[in-house]
Amino acid sequence: MNDILTIIIPCFNEQEVLPETRKEVGKILNDLIDGEKVSAKSKILFVDDGSSDNTWTLIEDYSKHYSYVTGITFTRNYGHQNALLAGLSIASKYSDIMITIDADLQDDVNAMYEMIDKYHQGNEIVYGVRSSRETDTFFKKNTALAFYALMRKLGVQLVPNSADYRLMSKKAVLALLEYKERNLFLRGMVPLIGYQSAKVFYKRKKRFAGKSKYPLKKMIHFAFDGITSFSTTPIKLIMNLGILVIIVSIVLMIYTLVQKFSGGTTSGWSSLMISIWLLGGVQLLSLSILGEYIGKIFTEVKMRPRFHIRYENYSKKMKF
Ligand code: UDP
Ligand code: MG
Repeated sequence: MNDILTIIIPCFNEQEVLPETRKEVGKILNDLIDGEKVSAKSKILFVDDGSSDNTWTLIEDYSKHYSYVTGITFTRNYGHQNALLAGLSIASKYSDIMITIDADLQDDVNAMYEMIDKYHQGNEIVYGVRSSRETDTFFKKNTALAFYALMRKLGVQLVPNSADYRLMSKKAVLALLEYKERNLFLRGMVPLIGYQSAKVFYKRKKRFAGKSKYPLKKMIHFAFDGITSFSTTPIKLIMNLGILVIIVSIVLMIYTLVQKFSGGTTSGWSSLMISIWLLGGVQLLSLSILGEYIGKIFTEVKMRPRFHIRYENYSKKMKF
């Protein structure tokens, strides 16, 4: 096959795992080349996300010794999602297939064989899905599951248990690059592209070496980013709350008036009760109306592509 594959690996202070990663991923790549599944021009592209350890020195060294190793380094740390996008945008110029995978070997590199097969069967996107989370801590597993459930409730389509280990064809990557938003949440964006896709299942392992670069604080930030970049449902919740409070205030109004006329109240209580609830409700409702407009601005400024065409033959026929 003549399709050029680039395996994109974001690295942030990964000097402990990098030698092993280079070896394991290099072996898969060479296997794929030898088996004529991908072109001999295929590469590994390490994206150094502003590491402060020896990560970049190692990448430079590998680039000299191995013809299939290439690298990019950032001026500073821009975060995992930006590192992935940088890799994809550079690789898409020269490759037909791109696979992104973490540097820490938690994702099974052997799943790449099946990914490539699924690509040859006509899939533009192949998601790596964890079939078990045995190695995750109880906390990480359950927070992740709760997060997927919440996202689904908010109307965001994610592929459950899939992170950023996936194959994308050049066509799919070019479509992804049309999404101009700054707050990246790739695992939410990729399903929006909508090309034919498939899943490959694998067991997620423990980190090969080094520490997680996603401490709890970063994880919460990432999850929050995912929600606020994809959903305006929270604004609608304010509207529902506003309507609820107004209904409560009407019930309360009746109750208060009954109390007042049956003489069981101190003076001033009735008017205070009624105004607090009614005003609260009106304020929430007004806020949500403002929110609706902000929600519209939010979707407009993202300037997401309005559609992706799977196939058309109009342009071809018009040329002749
Ligand atoms: N990473 C990155 N920039 C960052 C944080 C992480 O490029 O600011 C990379 C990291 O080197 C790894 C991948 O993103 O290749 C996933 O990070 P990690 O394995 O630490 O996350 P976890 O698996 O613990 O969620
Ligand atoms: Mg990891």
